[in-house]
Amino acid sequence: MKSGDGEKLKSTDYRPAPFSVEQVKADFPILDQKVNRHQLVYLDNAASTQKPRSVINALLEYYRHSNSNIHRGMHTLAERATQAYEGTRSHVAQFVGGVLDEEVIFTSGTTEAINLVAATWGEVNISEGDEIVITEMEHHANLVPWVMLAKSKSAVLKRIPITICGHLDLSNIDEIITKKTKLVAVSHMSNVLGTINPVKEIVARAHAVGAVALVDGAQAAPHMAINVRDLGADFYTFSAHKMLGPTGVGVLIGRKEMLEEMPPYKMGGEMIREVRFDRVTWNDLPHKFEAGTPNIADVVAFDAALTYLDEIGMDKVRLHEMQLTDYAMKKLTELPSIEIQGPQEPDQRGGAISFTDRDVHPHDIATFLDSKGIAVRAGHHCAQPLMRVLGKVATARASLYIYNDESDVDRLVEALVEMRRYFGV
Ligand code: PMP
Repeated sequence: MKSGDGEKLKSTDYRPAPFSVEQVKADFPILDQKVNRHQLVYLDNAASTQKPRSVINALLEYYRHSNSNIHRGMHTLAERATQAYEGTRSHVAQFVGGVLDEEVIFTSGTTEAINLVAATWGEVNISEGDEIVITEMEHHANLVPWVMLAKSKSAVLKRIPITICGHLDLSNIDEIITKKTKLVAVSHMSNVLGTINPVKEIVARAHAVGAVALVDGAQAAPHMAINVRDLGADFYTFSAHKMLGPTGVGVLIGRKEMLEEMPPYKMGGEMIREVRFDRVTWNDLPHKFEAGTPNIADVVAFDAALTYLDEIGMDKVRLHEMQLTDYAMKKLTELPSIEIQGPQEPDQRGGAISFTDRDVHPHDIATFLDSKGIAVRAGHHCAQPLMRVLGKVATARASLYIYNDESDVDRLVEALVEMRRYFGV
């Protein structure tokens, strides 16, 4: 299967799972436990995924055998740590379809990656009257930095609306993305609706008017094959903890020529070439954007997460999730009191399934499910403007990953039926 083909396949054409979910499950020690006397079913993957044994071991191994500060050290451990850290950078560069190593900047997460772009590229390139385009389905991480930048620069924030089916409404795109647009910032996959957005098309439209395009890939990179060059994005961001890796590591992919022109984000050690009391010059990429001691151990362990995903194959990851999402949507739709948000078609969405029950508050849904050992999230999912558009204060969200299977979905559905009996509705 070619990279990206997973998106076009119809989920119902494929069963059973394209890999052994049972074997995958066995690689995640945390899943082998009871919560509230029930076998744990973990369905909060859009917030953070669990870690396979190989990632946990990589973290331990690093601290046991290689721990040292990187880059400037002239001893064996420093060399070992540097190689491991830089090895992850090369791995990330390949994982996103092949970019230059120096185009990969490590941050603490997607949030920091987007803040970095707003504070550096945005600070220099956005002026009064310029327009920044976002969408109605953005996570606060890809929203608040642009709201604040627009305010401080007297720029205009415009948004692409959503349709009632949870897709972006691109019918008026030419009126939204115009010659005044300097930046288009859009999520690749919605953390609430699950929608996979046509980012290639949106990026092309941004470029046609001379605007820069940033894609928030926090929910896409963990779940499908990504090719940043093919998408055309100038900036692409994601977080390791949502793709089997440790917390505290994020990635900003940027075009080399743009990163070179941007001012640095944080000032301090490692990001400089020469420092005098009255003058400082910046280090080469990527170091210019990685001031101070980075999160070495977690970056090193992230490599094992990427290897785990490589070994399954991202097209198989996508196929499995598409089939399981299809199954989950069909099962949930059989419950008359449940309303699901976002696109119905599994080939146009990921496995983050937001839903409400006609009679039970989302927080009560999550609490009841937890009492049955089932972990889901409830709330506004860091997308308050979207919630307003949907006319909801909150939703419950079950989000799937590689270690989930049909039995997990069955447990969810059975518990939702039991919940209504429990609440007497
Ligand atoms: N964007 C999207 C679409 C997300 O789902 C999230 C995490 N929920 C973020 C950005 C922020 O990621 P992080 O908290 O890892 O910085």
